[in-house]
Amino acid sequence: MSSTRYDVRGRTAVITLDYPPINGIGAALRQDLMDALERALADADAKAIVVTGTERAFSGGADVKEFGTPNASREPRVQVLIAAFENSPKPVVAAISGVCMGGGLELAMGAHYRVARSDAQIALPEVKLGLLPGAGGTQRLPRAVGLETALNMIVSGAIVPAAKLKGTALFDEVTDGDPVAAAIALAEKVVSQNMPLKRLRDVKVKDPQAEAFLQFARNNVGAMAGPYPAPLRCVEAVASSVSKPFDEGVRLEREAFVTLMASPESRALRHVFAAERAAGKIANLPEGTPLREIRKVGVIGAGTMGGGITMNFLNAGIPVVLLEMKQDALDKGLATIRRNYENSAKKGKLTAQQVEQRMALVAPTVEDYGPFADADLVIEAVFENMEVKEQVFRKLDAVCKPGAILASNTSYLDIDKIASFTKRPADVLGLHFFSPANVMRLLEVVRGAKTSPDVLATAMALARKIRKVAVVAGVCDGFIGNRMIARYGAAAQGLISAGALPQQIDGALQKFGLAMGPFRMGDLAGLDIGWATRKRRAAEAGVPMKPIVADKLCEAGRFGQKTGAGWYRYEAGKRDPIPDPLTEQLIAQYRAANGITPRKVSDEEIVERCIYALVNEGARILEQGIAARASDIDLVYLNGYGFPAYRGGPMLYADTVGLPNVVRALRRFAAEPGADPSWQPAPLLLQLAEAGKTFN
Ligand code: NAD
Repeated sequence: MSSTRYDVRGRTAVITLDYPPINGIGAALRQDLMDALERALADADAKAIVVTGTERAFSGGADVKEFGTPNASREPRVQVLIAAFENSPKPVVAAISGVCMGGGLELAMGAHYRVARSDAQIALPEVKLGLLPGAGGTQRLPRAVGLETALNMIVSGAIVPAAKLKGTALFDEVTDGDPVAAAIALAEKVVSQNMPLKRLRDVKVKDPQAEAFLQFARNNVGAMAGPYPAPLRCVEAVASSVSKPFDEGVRLEREAFVTLMASPESRALRHVFAAERAAGKIANLPEGTPLREIRKVGVIGAGTMGGGITMNFLNAGIPVVLLEMKQDALDKGLATIRRNYENSAKKGKLTAQQVEQRMALVAPTVEDYGPFADADLVIEAVFENMEVKEQVFRKLDAVCKPGAILASNTSYLDIDKIASFTKRPADVLGLHFFSPANVMRLLEVVRGAKTSPDVLATAMALARKIRKVAVVAGVCDGFIGNRMIARYGAAAQGLISAGALPQQIDGALQKFGLAMGPFRMGDLAGLDIGWATRKRRAAEAGVPMKPIVADKLCEAGRFGQKTGAGWYRYEAGKRDPIPDPLTEQLIAQYRAANGITPRKVSDEEIVERCIYALVNEGARILEQGIAARASDIDLVYLNGYGFPAYRGGPMLYADTVGLPNVVRALRRFAAEPGADPSWQPAPLLLQLAEAGKTFN
C-alpha cells in the first residue's frame, strides 16, 4: 500500500502523505513521494503541486527506527527528494498542519511556497538526539526566519507554533482555516499570475550583527552544552549559512551530521529515546487490553512519599482522598503540599488560582477508610514494615469496591505477600515512586505473580497521564533500582574499607557524570533507612549483623542532612556537604578493627567497581526476568538515580566499554582474597561477552 495519496483538484495535483502515526520519512515514504512527484510532473492536467500531510502531522521527521540501518541511506535520500521538489518546474506549495518537524520541516522548506495552520508545531529537534538537522535545515531555516530565530530553534530543538513565525519567509500564509484549501488557492494564483518559483537556497541571510551574535551564541552555548558536542556543531552549521555559499554550507552540515551520528553522546540519547518507547511494550499484555477508569484516587500516609504521590494526581486534575493516622501528621503533609505549590507559584509556574484549585482536589481524612469505598485506585505509602502494610491492605480489602486497584509504594517488600492479605490479589500491584515523588520521572510498576493484565495496563496508561516514565519490574527484594543500588552501595563501602574517603568516591562518580555520589545521596535520603533495612535482613536471615561504617554513623545519631551530619557535616540551613574529620576517624577505627591497612585507590577503580557492580546485578535482574530488557534498566537509572543521559544508562555504558572488558574487571575483583561472591560475573554477562554480543 502506498504511503501517499494522489489526486488532482482543478489544475493542482495534491500529494498527501498518509503514513500513520506521524508520516515518519522512512525509505518507503521517500520512494512513494518521489513517485508521486514524478507523476505530477508528467500529469498534463496538473499545473501546480500541493504537498501535504494529515491533520495530525505534515511529518514528524526522519523514521528514527531506520537510524543506523541500510534503509537510512537508501535512495532516494531525503536530500535528493528535497532537491527534486525544489527544482520542480511546476510550482510546489506545502500545506502544513499538526507536527512539522526535523526532516518534515526540511522537506517543507524545499517547496516554493508554504501555507501553515496557525497551530502547526514547527521544530528542528535533532539536537535532542545529539544530532543536527542533516538535510539542509541549518542552511534553509536561517534563510527563512533569520539568523537569530533559526539559531534558537536549532540549538534548543524547541517547538514553535506556526503563528509565531507569521511574517517570516517560512510561511506565505498562516491560516486558522484549512491549509490545503488555502494552498490550492495559492497554487492557482501562482500559476495564473506566473509568479516566481521561490527557492530558499537562493536567499541571502542578511544580518548586520551576524558575527557579534554568533560569537555571543558560541560562548553561551559552549558553556551550557556540558558534555554534548551537538549544540556547538549546530551553531557552526548555522554560521555557515551566513558566511558560505549554500552548497558549501550543506556539505559542512552533512559532515557534522555524520560525525555526531557516530558520537557516543548521540548514541546514548537515541538509545534513551528508543528505550522510552520500548518500555511500554509488555510481555503477555496484548495491545488493546481494556483499561479501568481512574477517576478518584486514595493515598494512605502523608509522609515524604504520600504527599508527593498525591501531588501527581492533583496536577492531572484527579481528586485524591489522603489518609493519615493522626491529625498532626495529616496537617504537616498537607502543609508541605501547599508549600510546594506556593513555591511553584512564586516562580510563576502556577497562578494563585491554580494552587487553590489543586488544593481543593484533596480530601483529607484521619483513620476513616469510608471515603475509599468508591476510589478507583488506592496507593499505600505508610512505614516500610510488613505488619503495618498487612493492617492497611486488610482494611482496604474490606472497604474498597470490586475492581478497585490496590497499590503499594513499598521500596523492597514482597508484593505477592502484600497481595495475599487481600481476597483480590489480581487487583494488587506495586507503584514504586521515587523521592521527591512530585518531581522524579521514574515509576517502577511492580507486577505481582497474580496481577491481572488490565490492572497492569491501567497502571501504565495512568503513568503516562501523570507524566511518568514507567518501567515494569518483577517481584524481588528492591525490584530493579534498589536491588542494583544495594550492590553499588556495597562496592562504595568496600572502597571505604580499602582506603578511599567518601569525598573521593563521590567526586570520582560525579566526574563520571552522576548527579550525586553514593555518600551524598545517602545523606540526602537518610542513613537510617538503610540501617533499618540491614537490621531487617539480618533478622530475616537469622544471623547477627556485621556492622559497617554506616551503622557506626547511625549509632552516633548521624542520619544525614536531616540531623545535620552523616557522612558529611552540614551547616544549618545549607545542603553543601563538608568533609568531616569525625567520619574519617570512624572509618580509621573500622579499618583498624578489621585489620585493614588502607591503600591508595584511583578514581578509575572507583568508577569501575561502582558502575560494574550495577551492571553485574543488572545482568542478574535480566536473566531472572525481573526486567524485560536492558533498556528498561537503563531508564530506571536515568530517571530515578541521576545516571547521566549522555552515557545512556549503566547497561548501554557496559556495551560501550565492551562486555569482555567488564567481565575481565569483575573477574579481577572476584579473585581478590575475601572478595564478596557477588563480584562473580553473572552468567548472562559471560554468555553475551563470549558470544561477542551486547545487552542492547
Ligand atoms: P514517611 O515516614 O515519611 O511517611 C510515612 C507516613 O505514613 C507517616 O506520615 C505516617 O504517619 C504514616 N502512616 C504510618 N502508618 C500508617 C497507617 N497505618 N495508616 C495511615 N498512615 C500511616 O515514609 P516515606 O519515606 O514516605 O515512605 C513510605 C513508603 O514509601 C515506604 O514503604 C517506603 O519504603 C516507600 N518509599 C520511600 C522512598 C523514600 O525515598 N523515602 C522512596 C520510594 C518508596
